[in-house]
Amino acid sequence: MRALARAIDDHDLPAVEKIAEESQEDPFEVLVSTMLSAQTRDPVTAAATSRLFRVARTPRTIAALTVKQIEKLIYPVSFYRHKAKHLKETCRILVEQHGGRVPGTMAELLTLPGVGRKTANLVLILSFKSLENICVDTHVHRISNRLGWVKTRTPEETEQALYKTTHRRWWPYINLYLVTWGQNVCKPVYPRCGECVIRSDCARVGVTRVSTP
Ligand code: SF4
Repeated sequence: MRALARAIDDHDLPAVEKIAEESQEDPFEVLVSTMLSAQTRDPVTAAATSRLFRVARTPRTIAALTVKQIEKLIYPVSFYRHKAKHLKETCRILVEQHGGRVPGTMAELLTLPGVGRKTANLVLILSFKSLENICVDTHVHRISNRLGWVKTRTPEETEQALYKTTHRRWWPYINLYLVTWGQNVCKPVYPRCGECVIRSDCARVGVTRVSTP
């Protein structure tokens, strides 16, 4: 983790972290950008988030838009129709049940439509400064298994396994480090093991083909 902390300085921040930094970790902006980011490339997430926020930036103003208007603003993020519906409904609930604020507990976050553990963990880590959560997405799941830290089949299993196998001081950083590494070096296909700073610590479980320089 120390080696990764140094190495990721040479790479761009993932889209949600960048949006979090620019918005002073505003919980609503982190929540919305994380919801839009699922299965979507970073530049597309960043552009869609900024188009939406230029028109509506609060739960009240987004809830007042029609689903069609939200769809148009966030297109072409993946599953934009589902995400538009979930976003409007989430904003309505935030206004009606939480005074227009994003709640700060896992249990409350999970009641919001379209919000799963990945999104809830990231909001808790980035905006509420939680030291108790690990956010596992597809990159964290894949790389934790390749490294041999865990042996799991789903991101949900990986999250629970990582609480047992990693030191808690790293929990808030695991997502940032491994997502950055996954986007740039430890890619889903043809990982760039030859230039990887942690290759001497990596079991390379399941890695059969690597990128050749
Ligand atoms: S050595 Fe290869 S498989 Fe292991 S973390 Fe680095 S890029 Fe990924």
